[in-house]
Amino acid sequence: MAQSRGWLAVVDPTIADELVLYSQCAGAMCCLASHSGGSPMRHVKPLAQSLFLLLVSTAALAGSTTVAITPLGARTGEFCQVDRALLFEDPTGVRILYDAGRTIAGSSDRRLGNVHVVLLTHVHGDHLGDAKLNQDPDESSSSCGGDLRTSPTLPYSNVAEIAAGKNSAVLVSADVSTFLGAKIAGLRGMATPSCAAGNEVLVPRSQPCSSNIGFGSKRTITMQAGAPGVGITAVHAEHGNGLDPAFLVDPERTNLSSNGLLAPMGPPIGYILKFTNGLSVYLTGDTGQNSDMATIVRNYYQPNLVVFNIGDIFTTGPEEAAFAVTDLVGARAVIPEHANEVATRDGAVIPGSKTARFVELLPDLAVYLPLSGRTMQFDGEANCVAGCGAMKPRNQSQPR
Ligand SMILES: [Zn+2]
Ligand SMILES: [Zn+2]
Repeated sequence: MAQSRGWLAVVDPTIADELVLYSQCAGAMCCLASHSGGSPMRHVKPLAQSLFLLLVSTAALAGSTTVAITPLGARTGEFCQVDRALLFEDPTGVRILYDAGRTIAGSSDRRLGNVHVVLLTHVHGDHLGDAKLNQDPDESSSSCGGDLRTSPTLPYSNVAEIAAGKNSAVLVSADVSTFLGAKIAGLRGMATPSCAAGNEVLVPRSQPCSSNIGFGSKRTITMQAGAPGVGITAVHAEHGNGLDPAFLVDPERTNLSSNGLLAPMGPPIGYILKFTNGLSVYLTGDTGQNSDMATIVRNYYQPNLVVFNIGDIFTTGPEEAAFAVTDLVGARAVIPEHANEVATRDGAVIPGSKTARFVELLPDLAVYLPLSGRTMQFDGEANCVAGCGAMKPRNQSQPR
């Protein structure tokens, strides 16, 4: 409980005669303990009700209808060089893992809990996970740079290991769906079914599944048939999607690598997630600016929160991403991601970094740092109501 500073109690209207504890983050290093067991909720005896009711606050009350977003990076409390992974939890309990990459220790990573859905924008090794974390993210000596300590996952991948271990529904582009289905089958020794014949995917599941999600299509992830769920769709991304032959077995592995070829896997994608509290999140994936950001993403899906990759060289840099956020997507709030740098020190943006530049370019927008292990709680309007201690609030031009 050392990290669970500032516990507050609130009455969850969905659970009679019980109280539910939520963690109210008091700093960058909090909240991990409350989520490490797979649920943000802990039930307490009615005898304690009077005590906890004294602690009810407006912010905590908002937690009962907020979406929890927890970055899972290389070092707790920081935004590190190879960080990509985000874990989302809808108020209905649906938990979605985005681009696991290399900073999760496979399905046994204690930070994961339940993972109902696995999303992957494309098959590059830093997203698919050509290695998995082999360092304790809570240790201050853990690497935050490019010298991450990892274990091998090839030829399977970290994403396949997690989905296989967590009985997750994998929702990805068509070619990636069949590929990951085969990888999961190889790990489990049995075929991987598709997730559902229709749009609705029920979770939790007793075995993993893999299905495609096409541009302009949609899936709804729900805990109960017909009940409100999280809407997921794929949107265009301007990037490559070649698969490193190291993920393959022979003869294709040798044949492709000896010719300097990658395996074609169709177009990369981004995602739109529509949560049950009204929060709508655009996950760009690796991409350049593209006109779909204005026509399809803004005009049709109207996200109010964007997770934008800002690494430059391979994707939009901070200047291009800032333009896209304000002039193409038009979101209310943004989380920078995939910066390909050690972006923070002690949870604060390092001056002169790409992340600092991105923050400076968005003086009128709320920019929330993806500090690993720190759970941010968002309401339906993309306001972070808890856990964003290191954010740059709107109308403040200097990053912390
Ligand atoms: Zn990429
Ligand atoms: Zn990448």
